Amino acid sequence: MNIREITFTGSFPNYRQCPNGLMPEYAFIGRSNVGKSSLINMLTNRRSLARVSSTPGKTQLLNYFLIDKKWFLVDLPGYGYAAVSKKKRREFEQMINQYLQRREMLQCTFVLIDLRIPPQAKDLEFMNWLGANAIPFVIAFTKADKLKKKEITQNLERFKEEMLKQWEELPTYFVTSAVKKEGRDEVLEFIEQLNQQFYEYHHAK
Ligand code: GDP
Repeated sequence: MNIREITFTGSFPNYRQCPNGLMPEYAFIGRSNVGKSSLINMLTNRRSLARVSSTPGKTQLLNYFLIDKKWFLVDLPGYGYAAVSKKKRREFEQMINQYLQRREMLQCTFVLIDLRIPPQAKDLEFMNWLGANAIPFVIAFTKADKLKKKEITQNLERFKEEMLKQWEELPTYFVTSAVKKEGRDEVLEFIEQLNQQFYEYHHAK
């Protein structure tokens, strides 16, 4: 899939205020510093697209980008966000959880995981929660360029082992590098396929 046109639609404080209409959307989420902005910029071929969402005041909102008038890329705030107070953090988590549970146009969520580090409880808990709520997701491992081929295989294996304690199989995953632009075609191809299914289904209705 080639991306020609991207427009920033807006930042929204909750799922109810997000854009209406029949438009498939894909959410991107991960712990801060995982490489989310870099991955989004790499996928969309823009140098600083995701900077919009990391400007002050926007990091805690649901940021929408319309791609080729065909689908939305939704940049979600990082989970485990160090909010000033417990109350704020709860509100914040609730906003994300409600979005994920209730947003009807959400086709799939990309959970970003830094492939260099051992499986983190926070990531595993989050994916368990997605699974328990039947929210479709895939994994995008980031920063693969920082590892040798053998280390990539080893780390994937380590991750698989950890996940298989809870899951019957590893979810679909992509190994990516924003630096080397790896994984881009695979991710976009995946989205394209889901878009096709989406439009076939909705046109047939
Ligand atoms: P975010 O907080 O999740 O949006 O993370 P950023 O995209 O801002 O990236 C965090 C840091 O990791 C920055 O210093 C990036 O340059 C670096 N980074 C992100 N993606 C990659 C990657 O694919 N390879 C390498 N080597 N560094 C990356």
